Amino acid sequence: MDVYVDKPKCTGCEHCKDVCPVAVFEIVDTNSPKVNGDSAPEEKKWKGQHDPAVVAKFGQVSDGHTHFKDISVAVNGSACILCQACLIECEGECITITDDNKTVYQSVYK
Ligand code: SF4
Ligand code: SF4
Repeated sequence: MDVYVDKPKCTGCEHCKDVCPVAVFEIVDTNSPKVNGDSAPEEKKWKGQHDPAVVAKFGQVSDGHTHFKDISVAVNGSACILCQACLIECEGECITITDDNKTVYQSVYK
């Protein structure tokens, strides 16, 4: 299993880390050297700018989680059991999972 986060779209809400039963995700500061430590393709790596559409949607949300300070990194994607919990909890709709048959799963926020 391969898991990555589209970094500019990640709000840092930590929902993925909260729900993942096998600790695939680590939440790191945007300045951390670990911020691009998963398999995200070049155009989805962190380069210092959040997606404006995601900021407009979640910038004012106050739900007890910090937003736009930290970013999720799929540091342990090989452990993923495809429970799909993160795929429905990811408010940035920025998680991509590819299984061993190359089927791709994309997060859709419910
Ligand atoms: S689908 Fe994989 S990465 Fe997502 S919560 Fe389940 S085990 Fe964790
Ligand atoms: S749930 Fe999605 S938006 Fe929230 S921290 Fe995880 S990857 Fe980022």
